[in-house]
Amino acid sequence: MIKKNTYTAIIKDLTEKGVTLVAVSKTKPQESIKELYDLGQRDFGENYVQELVDKQAQLPQEIHWHFIGHLQSNKVKYIASFVHLIHGVDSYKLLVEINKQAAKNNRVIHVLLQVHIAQEETKFGLDENELDQMFNANQNQLSALQNIMVEGFMGMASFTDNKEQVRKEFKYLKSIFEKYKHVQIANCKIQTLSMGMSGDYLIAIEEGSNMVRIGSLIFGERNYIS
Ligand SMILES: *Cc1c(COP(=O)(O)O)cnc(C)c1O
Repeated sequence: MIKKNTYTAIIKDLTEKGVTLVAVSKTKPQESIKELYDLGQRDFGENYVQELVDKQAQLPQEIHWHFIGHLQSNKVKYIASFVHLIHGVDSYKLLVEINKQAAKNNRVIHVLLQVHIAQEETKFGLDENELDQMFNANQNQLSALQNIMVEGFMGMASFTDNKEQVRKEFKYLKSIFEKYKHVQIANCKIQTLSMGMSGDYLIAIEEGSNMVRIGSLIFGERNYIS
């Protein structure tokens, strides 16, 4: 069972603000996804490769599947034929593998670079130094990957009730987005800023997000957290 009224209110608000909603359906049954699909939702986010592969095979082909989890290089091949956008790319090595699998499938795969913005050490993501390396010093290595398109950045704020801390982290990610927005590299077209989840998406939008990833608000609480 999805929270239909909440979804309707959220999608109306986001549409007015020009923000894309990725409905995060991890651990949720296919019937719930279908229910939301029937209301017009097309962008869905998943964290686990096997779960995504299973759902993709059985649900409407019109769905845009976003991979938002931590992707291991050896699993890229399973989603390369259909994935719409990979949000959590945090190494050049992973970009190389995505490029390779995209080429095998004769397509271009769009990706977001994950930036480490939270206080927790455990969260994934590149730091500003690594981004500078990628876009400047190693620009030729990046531009050689002709089957990927870097379309922006993704970040996860600290898990805290301190709203000012969260806001500060989103502000920082927005500044990264602005810094690289105009890079002149053939396979980079920086336009997407994926930040904000159920608990902090309104702050994220105030700070410039144009893509939010919302799960529990729409689908209800998950039985296990990831
Ligand atoms: C699970 C998850 C979400 C959605 O979280 P909710 O709090 O349920 O909205 C968003 N982004 C990522 C990367 C996630 O893993």
